[in-house]
Amino acid sequence: MAELFYDDDADLSVIQQKKVAVIGYGSQGHAHSLNLRDSGVDVTVGLREGSASRAKAEDQGLKVASVADAVRDADVVVILAPDQVQRLVYADEIAPNLKEGAALVFGHGFNIRFGYIKPEADHDVFMVAPKGPGHLVRREYADGRGVPVLVAVEQDASGKAWETALSYAKAIGGLRAAGIKTTFTEETETDLFGEQSVLCGGASQLVQYGFETLTEAGYQPEIAYFEVLHELKLIVDLMVEGGLAKQRWSISDTAEYGDYVSGPRVIDPHVKENMKAVLADIQNGKFAERFIADQDAGAPEFKELRAKGEQHPIEETGRELRKMFAWIKPSDTDYVEGSA
Ligand code: NAD
Ligand code: MG
Ligand code: MG
Ligand code: MG
Ligand code: MG
Ligand code: MG
Repeated sequence: MAELFYDDDADLSVIQQKKVAVIGYGSQGHAHSLNLRDSGVDVTVGLREGSASRAKAEDQGLKVASVADAVRDADVVVILAPDQVQRLVYADEIAPNLKEGAALVFGHGFNIRFGYIKPEADHDVFMVAPKGPGHLVRREYADGRGVPVLVAVEQDASGKAWETALSYAKAIGGLRAAGIKTTFTEETETDLFGEQSVLCGGASQLVQYGFETLTEAGYQPEIAYFEVLHELKLIVDLMVEGGLAKQRWSISDTAEYGDYVSGPRVIDPHVKENMKAVLADIQNGKFAERFIADQDAGAPEFKELRAKGEQHPIEETGRELRKMFAWIKPSDTDYVEGSA
């Protein structure tokens, strides 16, 4: 059984006695910063010159400084810049200014697992990785709840890294739900696998194929959209509440029988072989290398794939349909349709 941590397992005062610098004010950065601040922690957001996030962070009442200045002052430095730039920010602005004995915190293990960042031995290195998007990490905290977090310690120079990590996890609201003990390797490999095979890659491809199959057979795109995309959320909500069993309990017997006989025809054993190949490329570092090489070249492959995704007919159908859903309230104000 995995080791779990809750609010009672952590002492909030540990992190309240430290100066924390959060580098980056994107999805996770804004959530960590605001939750820490509201938990009584001394936070400074470290941003690049000319960062578009500066005004946003200041509007929320946070202290903002350059990355170098924020780091110079900090006992705890939280690296929440995008994974592909972390090693550059670390080498240029973090490492040269890091206080002796300051702790380094990550929200995902990518740069440590694949060796892009190699902290000196005198620093605690730990991870508090919320298992949900940043905007939910903030919203849940503000509503008195929390998003579960994975907690790992890579380097325990002070002998107190766990104490600090759990205190930090408590301050961002994670231990109101649960903290789960893991390692940087396990978190990185499973996170990449989950998002590539099931949550993002697998689900997106499944939805697109379903939409294509129905529209190519002559059915209306709006009907296809509802069947293969919109209703997915309702099904997933039931899975989260009570597993596959609750989902199957709630649907009709017709749907449940179809689940058993047709599910394995669509997602056949071949798909599992493909998943194993995807996992192998994560474990052997091929995926990381390909991602970083493309990013370093200005992300030509990434941009081309993003543009291609946006042009899929399901997106046009969805944009038009969602205008009629007065009851779908945007969950955050940053995202603008068609601007990804
Ligand atoms: P993001 O792309 O939303 O935001 C990154 C922010 O970093 C930008 O808004 C900007 O403020 C800043 N930034 C960009 N370039 C910079 C530079 N050169 N120097 C300094 N700051 C810079 O990033 P994110 O999705 O929040 O991801 C941050 C970390 O959290 C990653 O390690 C990611 O894997 C992890 N994570 C993200 C999520 C999520 O919900 N998006 C969930 C779990 C873990
Ligand atoms: Mg994930
Ligand atoms: Mg991820
Ligand atoms: Mg149906
Ligand atoms: Mg039923
Ligand atoms: Mg993004």
